[in-house]
Amino acid sequence: MQRERETYDLLILGSGSTSFAAATRARELGKTAVMTEARTLGGTCVNRGCLPSKNLIEAARLVYDAAHPLYPGLTPARLDIDFPALIAQKDELIHEYRQQHYTSLLEEQEDSAGVAVVHGRAELVDPHTAEVRMPDGSVRRLRGEQVVIATGTSPAVPDLAGLTETPYLTSDLLSSGEAQELTELPSSLVILGGGYIALELGQLFARLGAAVTILERSGRILNEYEPEIGIALTDILRAEGIHLVTRAQVELVSGDASGVQVYATVRDQPQEFRAARLLLATGRRPNTANLGLERVGIRLDGHSAVMVDEYLRTSVPHIWAAGDVIGRETESQMATPVGAHDGGIVAENALAGAKRTVDHSVVPRAIFTDPQVAVVGVTDREANARGFDCQCNTIPLSVVPRAGAIRDTRGVIKMVLERPTQRVLGVSMLGAQASEVIHEAAMALRFGATADDFIDLIHVYPTMAEALKLVAISFTKDVSKLSCCAS
Ligand SMILES: Cc1cc2nc3c(=O)[nH]c(=O)nc-3n(C[C@H](O)[C@H](O)[C@H](O)COP(=O)(O)OP(=O)(O)OC[C@H]3O[C@@H](n4cnc5c(N)ncnc54)[C@H](O)[C@@H]3O)c2cc1C
Repeated sequence: MQRERETYDLLILGSGSTSFAAATRARELGKTAVMTEARTLGGTCVNRGCLPSKNLIEAARLVYDAAHPLYPGLTPARLDIDFPALIAQKDELIHEYRQQHYTSLLEEQEDSAGVAVVHGRAELVDPHTAEVRMPDGSVRRLRGEQVVIATGTSPAVPDLAGLTETPYLTSDLLSSGEAQELTELPSSLVILGGGYIALELGQLFARLGAAVTILERSGRILNEYEPEIGIALTDILRAEGIHLVTRAQVELVSGDASGVQVYATVRDQPQEFRAARLLLATGRRPNTANLGLERVGIRLDGHSAVMVDEYLRTSVPHIWAAGDVIGRETESQMATPVGAHDGGIVAENALAGAKRTVDHSVVPRAIFTDPQVAVVGVTDREANARGFDCQCNTIPLSVVPRAGAIRDTRGVIKMVLERPTQRVLGVSMLGAQASEVIHEAAMALRFGATADDFIDLIHVYPTMAEALKLVAISFTKDVSKLSCCAS
């Protein structure tokens, strides 16, 4: 067994977008850094998250839109689906993207003596040292003056009767080159969970031809979002033929390679659901187990996320954490740009004593269903819980000229205002191009804009962004009775 010991300015556990941001900033500061990676370089987003899901979601949209043209005069067309070829292009895309945005960066950085990667599972054996068990069984000891934990999350597997004997998929089905990758289109799929991964993947597979059932435990999907969004999206998904069941308490699962059965209590009635495959989309769990965190005194919160302060410092002064592994600590969100932003902060705080604090109050987020969901700031419920005297309005997108022009009026937009100042506290939208529109709202929140600021801003006509102006106007006028572009 080979044993080495190496010392770096920054020892980073993980190699996802958070780690890359930290490593890159370390290099810019003239410091040395090492990343460790137990799976594939680049982490979740590029290998099994954002990139593959958005690639396949768009392919499925093309299939669906061809079969369901919104315009009379266009004849529905059936696009043939070669699923293995679709998966192969996804894998190729991931490979190219990983090479371009991750691997090649390292090659450049190593030239300038900055960042190294050690492949293998890392565990802290003392507050400055990680042991990395390499694929060939050898162990390398890496020492960091400062340490960053950026090990991300993994699919949470619920404690469910029968699950250990039943084959199941997780969002890891999107991975490329790993055993969990799905390479055959299932004829039917039962999905447990009603969060964004369940909905994105559910609609994707339904549009590719699978019979999809989504079982959500609570009374509505997207529980933490504005209720208007979950309710409207439920209708849209059901209209597409997805069997979406709420208040479904799963009791037992069983099955084998030929199919699965899910036994649930739905509104007090026992029900059985059968499908070719079972997909678990019941949340994500921080990768904090077997990392040696307890050994070195790092505290976790009730969701097993690493606890950090506003500088992203853990309970051990020279150990920092950022990205998905901190969960909702410091009001953070589990999303790639958050980790990529905060990874840089961590490196500056750790290596340059920058004392930068994180601000997660304005983090725009999107769900890539069709239509998309996008949100920023607080919801009605959150604003009330925080003691704001607030005022909310929701309008249907049918009042937005662009939506009418493109014959896609699905969705709603809701705005939350602080009543005395009319400052905008939050915006939630379900509708075409919501993930783009939300940036105007995010910038507005960042600079403390009021409803009048949205109204006074001349918007391009006709765009989906006019939804923001119209919802702002709706606090004082009936927007269904406005002439074109009027405020
Ligand atoms: C299906 C899906 C779709 C998504 N879509 C989007 C989207 O559209 N937009 C968006 O912003 N976000 C999306 N996300 C979330 C996004 O992928 C994550 O927020 C982001 O990847 C987190 O980055 P990270 O660097 O913190 O962690 P990760 O990218 O998870 O990286 C952590 C790395 O640490 C490694 N690791 C863990 N333990 C060890 C150990 N002991 N030793 C060595 N290495 C270890 C892991 O293997 C992993 O590669 C999606 C996620 C999923 C699952």
